[in-house]
Amino acid sequence: NCGTHTSPPVSPPSKPIIPTPRVSRLFQPSNLREGQEGGDLTCRSQRLMLQTGLIHPSNPGCFYYLPVALRSMEKLVRLIDEEMHAIGGQKVDMPALCSAELWKTSGRWELMGKEMFRLQDRHNAEYCLGPTHEEAITELFASQSTVSYKKLPLLLYQVTRKFRDEQKPKFGLLRGREFYMKDMYSFDFSEEAALDTYQSVCRAYGRLFDRLGLNWVQVQADTGNIGGTLSHEFQLPADIGEDQLLVCQNCGFSANVETMEPGQTRCSQCRTGVLSETRGIEVGHTFYLGTKYSQVFKALIVNASNEPSVAEMGCFGLGVTRILAASIEVLSSDDAICWPGLIAPFQVCVLPPKKGSKAQEATRISEDLAQSLGNSLASLKGEVVLDDRTQMTIGKRLKDAKILGYPYVVVVGQKALEDLPIFEVLCQRSGETMFLSKEGLVDLL
Ligand code: ATP
Ligand code: MG
Ligand code: MG
Ligand code: MG
Repeated sequence: NCGTHTSPPVSPPSKPIIPTPRVSRLFQPSNLREGQEGGDLTCRSQRLMLQTGLIHPSNPGCFYYLPVALRSMEKLVRLIDEEMHAIGGQKVDMPALCSAELWKTSGRWELMGKEMFRLQDRHNAEYCLGPTHEEAITELFASQSTVSYKKLPLLLYQVTRKFRDEQKPKFGLLRGREFYMKDMYSFDFSEEAALDTYQSVCRAYGRLFDRLGLNWVQVQADTGNIGGTLSHEFQLPADIGEDQLLVCQNCGFSANVETMEPGQTRCSQCRTGVLSETRGIEVGHTFYLGTKYSQVFKALIVNASNEPSVAEMGCFGLGVTRILAASIEVLSSDDAICWPGLIAPFQVCVLPPKKGSKAQEATRISEDLAQSLGNSLASLKGEVVLDDRTQMTIGKRLKDAKILGYPYVVVVGQKALEDLPIFEVLCQRSGETMFLSKEGLVDLL
């Protein structure tokens, strides 16, 4: 009453327990009806992603990314962040709505043609939905009047939606009209320094694709409407790839056919090797831009004696949603997704026994197992899902687990009721089946 009171003792915060995600609760609507083969769909990744409720079609070339797919995408973005931070990249986020003025300044308002989504605001000012951001980033840099050489190399990047009115959106996420791209822009003092930066970004791209366990090639590429004088693409060899690549059997030199004379069969690098053809999916593209944009927007740098010069630039794209689909495309079989381990949506799926079966008593054990695995090792936090659709047989749920491609599936059956409970563990990548105790399972994972 008089305002003096003793507050209750504060107990130390307890570790939050991560609730086990349950398949029955996941919003994962399949877009292929039972029995429908999806043979009319154009590629494997699109079919598998629709079938397993990873994506849902919207307008042509636009998709809803559903919760399970988003888990993978966020993991992929985290890996990209790690690699970009490792080379000094700083993350920004630029407006998707870009003023036509900027694009007119660079001369690309006309050049981009029908691929650009254009719109007007209520005052009739013209805009586009950003298909890429060289103009915007250069203007941002130039707004600082002059930047000290001490800040260099400056590497700014973002992971955002890009908009391109593709003539033929197709292959699901591989060619969308609205898609996620990581785009990085570099600023350096000299051509030499810019080329060093260029190599360092290319190495980071190589490390990223290695970590994803993908087979990739870096090829000489055309600079297209981005411009510049030096350019490479990162390609995943695949039959459905829309790019045609030439690879020298002697020295390994590789190029997109767009950069060569038609009909060339000898390597232009070693001059002896024979070129062989493959197809590829372009997942990344790097450009040394020189001063193409910095000149126009007056992006200036000052040296130690305070003398200004025009910034040397590079730009570096990675197709985030395309990498997601392309890795499914190249690693999976027709009827089962195989993920790059690091971006699988969940690492483990636990299957409790069917309701009414002899092993039903082990249901509780399954719940406890999923809960404790998902809270034990740091690497498994939130990574263990329980397929609690226990009205379905184990066989049917195993089939679903196979299609979705969880790296590990743990079947809880009769053996889990023994004095020393034993679980059946399927390692989907190797196809191996093991019978393990809980400790054995934790060791394996
Ligand atoms: P493409 O030749 O396939 O049309 P691009 O050369 O036009 O691609 P860039 O401007 O180099 O694409 O963009 C950088 C990256 O963005 C590409 O390497 C690719 O991974 C991704 N990307 C480009 N267009 C799309 C798209 N329509 N859908 C999904 N990802 C895309
Ligand atoms: Mg294109
Ligand atoms: Mg291309
Ligand atoms: Mg390209």
